[in-house]
Parts: sequence; C-alpha cells; structure tokens
Amino acid sequence: VEKDIRCVSCHRIIKGDSRLVCGECQAEVEVNFSELTGERGLYATLIKMGAAALQSSSTQHSEISVRRVEAPTPLNFNAMSVVTKGGAMTTVQGWAQDWSAHRAVKPPEWSGPEITSRGPDGKVIRGQFDLAIESLRSNLPWATETRRDFGNFKRDLHHITQDCKRVIDPGDPAGHGAPKIPLGKCPTITIGVGLCQHPLSVRVGALSIRCPKCGTTWPMLMWPILARGMAG
Ligand SMILES: [Zn+2]
Ligand SMILES: [Zn+2]
Repeated sequence: VEKDIRCVSCHRIIKGDSRLVCGECQAEVEVNFSELTGERGLYATLIKMGAAALQSSSTQHSEISVRRVEAPTPLNFNAMSVVTKGGAMTTVQGWAQDWSAHRAVKPPEWSGPEITSRGPDGKVIRGQFDLAIESLRSNLPWATETRRDFGNFKRDLHHITQDCKRVIDPGDPAGHGAPKIPLGKCPTITIGVGLCQHPLSVRVGALSIRCPKCGTTWPMLMWPILARGMAG
C-alpha cells in the first residue's frame, strides 16, 4: 500500500513526486518574494517611509487620536518588528545563510545598501534585503525537496509580508471589500520601459495606493507628489 505524502507546510496530500512541499505553498512563497522585493516593493517602501512608519496609525479610532494629544505617539509594532534588529532583514539573511550552508553553495555577500535603489546614472543598485531573497529564490526548488522545516520558513516570510502591508496600508491589507475610486494614470517612469500609464484607483479608507502593473506604492504622505505627477 502506497503511503500518502503530505506537504510539510500545509499537510495537503502531494501526488507522485519527490517533493516535500506542495505547489500551492511554493506559489505563495513566490508571490511573497515578488511583493517584498524591488525598489518599489513592500520592504523598500516601508524603509523609505522612515519615522512615519514607526508611528501608530490612529485614523480608524477617534478615541485613540484624542488620547494621542497628551500621550507620546505610540509606536507601531508591525513596523518595529520589520525594521529593528532581529526583524525582517535578520530573518531573511538567516534563512539564506542556512539554505546556502546546507546546500554547500556560496552565500550572498552582506554588503552595500539595505534596500534596492537607483544610482544617478539610472543603474539599479541591489540592496542586501533583495540579495537575500534572490538567494532564497534560486534555492527554492531545492528547498521544496529537502527542507523539512519549510513550513517555518513560509510562515516567517508571510509574517514579514503581512507586517509590511499593515504598516503601509493598515486599513485593509488584503484589499477586499471597500469600493474603489478611479484616480488617473500611473506616472511612474521606468528606464527602458517608459511611462507606466496604468489606471490607478484608491480604495475608500486606504492609506496607500499601489500600481498593479509596475508595483509602485505610494503611502498617504506621498499622495501630493502622486497627484502632481498625474496632472502633468
Ligand atoms: Zn503545502
Ligand atoms: Zn504603474
């Protein structure tokens, strides 16, 4: 009698191959990789928000905003968990290091800027966070056949993604429910590609706008810049 093989992460039955992880779990990890990385990805956006990200949002609770007048600004623990020592960077570098060592391949060099940016010549300078994710991405097929602790990795990555989304857009991270208002066309210019022009809309109550085509995210404090770009 053949024994069912179950995904080490979600325990669904996997049919007919040598994998430890099901296709759905692998796909979820790949989606998180692409949401988090890039000069306009979730991680870079959160880091670029700087101090604003660390302040707790009070837009939904008028009671809290009244109290904020006399109390010091409460810190946003979702943001803290991402940006502080032991946060997202430490977690992804730890997994990248661990997988590289297990597989006996060279780990990425941890040098250079924290987030991916663009130099004055328009060249992309890759940040350490994205280098760690790229290393994980290249080892992903191997990991789905080898790592019995894949569920822990997937959970860590999911938490980082959710924490970033809660900070950038605490209203409704999943983006369900509220109606959308059309705004205009995306003004992002990508070198070699040109103007994005994808129609943008904003959800009622949202605190950020994200272009589904080029991935640019504008937290609320950048909306004036966005509006100017769209008018021009
Ligand atoms: Zn699974
Ligand atoms: Zn765009």
